[in-house]
Amino acid sequence: TRQIVLASRPEAEPGPENFRLEPTTLADPGPGEVLVRVIWMSLDPYMRGRMSAAKSYVPPIEIDAPMNAGCVAEVISSGDPSLAPGDVVYGLMPWAEHALVPAREVKRVEPGAAPLAAWLGVLGMPGMTAWTGLNRIAAAQPGETIVVSAATGAVGSLAAQLARRKGMRVIGVAGGAAKCARAVQEYGCHVCLDHRAAPDARTLSDQIKAAAPDGVDVYFENVGGKTLEAVIPRMNVHGRIAVCGTIAWYSGVDNPPPLPPVWRTVLTRRLRIEGFIVFDHYAHTPEFLAEVQPLVAAGQIKWRETIADGLDAAPAAFMGLLQGKNDGKQLVRIGAD
Ligand code: NDP
Repeated sequence: TRQIVLASRPEAEPGPENFRLEPTTLADPGPGEVLVRVIWMSLDPYMRGRMSAAKSYVPPIEIDAPMNAGCVAEVISSGDPSLAPGDVVYGLMPWAEHALVPAREVKRVEPGAAPLAAWLGVLGMPGMTAWTGLNRIAAAQPGETIVVSAATGAVGSLAAQLARRKGMRVIGVAGGAAKCARAVQEYGCHVCLDHRAAPDARTLSDQIKAAAPDGVDVYFENVGGKTLEAVIPRMNVHGRIAVCGTIAWYSGVDNPPPLPPVWRTVLTRRLRIEGFIVFDHYAHTPEFLAEVQPLVAAGQIKWRETIADGLDAAPAAFMGLLQGKNDGKQLVRIGAD
């Protein structure tokens, strides 16, 4: 089989030289292990952090060790009584065509509940992130106004739809006219602003003011950078910011000034800003699924996928994700489902 390892650490934006595709051999599964054939692999922005040596909430990937990702895979042979060949599972696996994984670290996919890839998107980690940020962190309420950045992405597109279903006024921020149109037509945004067309934070902030004349109660923060600077001055007294991601800064480009002048607004408006990591909230997955899975089954939630074909295509697709080339959940199709 083949796998992709971290060849070197990127200084800024990752490039093809940071990855290496190489052959590897796998033993038969030992007790408690399963050998799987990977079907779908998820690419996520957090992987950029794991390529750096800096300490974070997950340890860095070692040089020459395989990158890893959330995957959906089929069990080929099993050393554990809980799983049998033919079972489809999801969990964290190496960037590889086949893998040997501990049975207790994967979950069985409920057959027929949704397309398999949905367990990496709307019903998986990104979906749980959207639901957690909105409900458990921001405590978003009907009638409030919310700004969602990266509004057409895997997390943002569901956050926007769930906010709209709650009866909120939803203002999306996304890159480019096509994504903005989609945020309004498909993901329930009342308005969507194009951060790539806005020359500076001030312009974007004026556009948010026009879209939300009564101010912003909740900001679902996915990006940092110019968008964050634009939203803070528009926050209402006792507004909440759920800090989910700051992708604009992951590769060290678009660096912020040491502390933006708008920081004072946090004080004057008595804002509550809370970061969160979805892993800490996994105990609440049943509540998330109870709400979202029936909506998915009824066709009431929309999502898009950008699919790269084959393991070889993963590095380029990952670099594209960090630059906004994806439209919705970025996946790699490794094998037939
Ligand atoms: P997306 O599908 O949203 O893809 C990333 C998007 O980020 C791109 O499509 C692009 O959209 C946008 N983007 C890239 N660079 C910039 C920039 N400089 N300024 C503004 N937007 C930019 O990815 P996910 O939905 O998987 O993740 C969204 C965010 O949520 C990320 O920050 C991620 O790290 C975070 N996250 C956090 C989790 C947690 O537990 N806290 C868990 C999962 C995700 P566009 O073209 O619209 O600019």
